[in-house]
Amino acid sequence: MKLQSEILKDEISALKPSSEITVSEWASRYRMMTPFDSPAANTLFDINRVPYLKGIMDKFGDKNVRMMVFLAGTQIGKSNVMMNMIGYCMSERPGPMMLALPTKESIERYSATRIDPMVAASPALNPLQLKKWKINEKHYSGGVLYLASAQSSSSLSSSSVEMVFADELKDWPSGIKAGDPVKYLLDRTKTFPYTKKIFMASSPSVEGDQIDKYHKSCEVQAEYYVPCPHCGERFTLEFAQLKFGDENFPFDLTDKDDPEYWNAAKKHAYYQCEMCGEKITDYMKPGMLRKGEWLLKDLSPIPEKTESIGVRLNSLNSLDLKFGDVAFEFLESRGDREKLKNFTCGWLAEPWMEDSMGIDADDLQKNVCDLEPVVVPESAVCLTAGIDVQKTHFYYSIWAWDAMGTGWLIHYGTVASYDEVRSIVFENEYPIQGSTETMGIWRAAIDTGGQYREGEDGELFSQTEATYNFIRQYGRGKIFGIKGAGGSNSGMRVKMSMLDKLPSGRALPGGLALYLLNVDEFKDTLFWRLDQDDGEPQRLYFHKDTGQDWFKHLSAERKVFDKNKWVWKKVRKRNDYMDTCVYNLALIDAQFGGGLKMIRGKAERRNVEAQMVDLNKQIKEQSYLSGVHHRARDGWIRRR
Ligand SMILES: [Zn+2]
Repeated sequence: MKLQSEILKDEISALKPSSEITVSEWASRYRMMTPFDSPAANTLFDINRVPYLKGIMDKFGDKNVRMMVFLAGTQIGKSNVMMNMIGYCMSERPGPMMLALPTKESIERYSATRIDPMVAASPALNPLQLKKWKINEKHYSGGVLYLASAQSSSSLSSSSVEMVFADELKDWPSGIKAGDPVKYLLDRTKTFPYTKKIFMASSPSVEGDQIDKYHKSCEVQAEYYVPCPHCGERFTLEFAQLKFGDENFPFDLTDKDDPEYWNAAKKHAYYQCEMCGEKITDYMKPGMLRKGEWLLKDLSPIPEKTESIGVRLNSLNSLDLKFGDVAFEFLESRGDREKLKNFTCGWLAEPWMEDSMGIDADDLQKNVCDLEPVVVPESAVCLTAGIDVQKTHFYYSIWAWDAMGTGWLIHYGTVASYDEVRSIVFENEYPIQGSTETMGIWRAAIDTGGQYREGEDGELFSQTEATYNFIRQYGRGKIFGIKGAGGSNSGMRVKMSMLDKLPSGRALPGGLALYLLNVDEFKDTLFWRLDQDDGEPQRLYFHKDTGQDWFKHLSAERKVFDKNKWVWKKVRKRNDYMDTCVYNLALIDAQFGGGLKMIRGKAERRNVEAQMVDLNKQIKEQSYLSGVHHRARDGWIRRR
């Protein structure tokens, strides 16, 4: 028997009719584009520019649909989908709604550049009686729209809501005080079991992340099927069918790392039908996309009464991109793990797979080359050193890098004192292969996260404090203090912070720059680079006398799936040389004061000292500017 309250809810549900018009019809009639949305400002939303979005928006308006999860590639109009849905709800089915975004800053930006201009410009929204209208709480006749930050459990829990919109899930924290922020957000809709609507959208990051998980958990997964202009067979646009640089290539170019090759590929790329093998050009794309439909894998339509639907759309579908743009982006990304990951997630809307990360000690033999130890390869442009601090000694490794980021381990070992660390970094010179010249260390990174260390008199002292003092005394813009930090998938790998006091509370006049490293991200990079083929850019090599101790440390961790995310776990106790590799990779990263880009070529290696002076200046300016910049931006938002 049904409870009284349930019967009531059923009645309410039956009484609340699905709107007379669909979301796409609403948008075509009432969504006026603003300069923030599109270069075509002051025109109505044009569904012909984004034909694939119609099916997504209209399903959302379907009275049976409770949840949709959209895995979206770049430049296909994900934000517009969400804006149209929000506008539609405000106008056609007003009620309590929440839009959740990754951070407080993204809320301010979204409010000022998206919501407010949309309401002001739309003939359907503009007449709504606006009551309390704030950045994070917008009351209008019949409803309210809350804007919440995924970082803040209090803002996510502010109210019960009937409709939830969650954007850019890939940038959300995996956990907050109250637990999983997505789950926390979805709990807000509990009081509206029969009328709630949930829409989540993001590009994916890694397999098994939030958006991937919710997408898979939907009752059905639909994709956008288009008919071949030649044979009429239906398929989804997939990267594997994008052709560039094959027998039709008109140039005598074979080097895939040559930008001229990229440009030629951009010009000549086309799509090949996987059924009939015919060539599909950009010219045929709009007509083909307009005939597309959202179907399940067996080409059946989405069943009536489906409550949750996962949809996925990659950037090959975008009418703002040519097939050649996608080819160019891929070629330009292929030699660099960060860029390739961004391409896979952002453009192909596919999660980045790293399930078998980590290597057995024996497999690492493949990276040994015939380079003599302590010798710098001829093509190297600089040397870096990474130093890991332990209770009684220091582990270090020294790497040579060429301009493309290919790396050679030229030396590694342990020393017992800060004095020895100093001489490694400042005094040692390494002979350059095939010449009489030598090269010194360009940059070094030392771990400041150590515990307590035993002094000569047997007293324990804070390793962190000792390392800070060492950097302040001897760093000279050459030795940088670093600290491992837990990472998100936001793309942040290195973050500088200024310390103004020591752990003991003593002030640090002038401050000390400390670099926080997303260690997991660099471990991913390390293993991706170790796995590059011989001769490929960014591969890592070990000198010919590299021993078992090194291999053991580097195979001491495995990447495993644990509680919603991929994490690195130790399978062996000692992994310190692996940490030194992480520090070396951080030193050449673009986010570490420009990284390798600071060294343009061999010719400039004599000027390395001069560049270091610039970097010091830059660090000071950055820390000064970051404060100023924030204030300026806040003002900018308020004005709008
Ligand atoms: Zn065909």
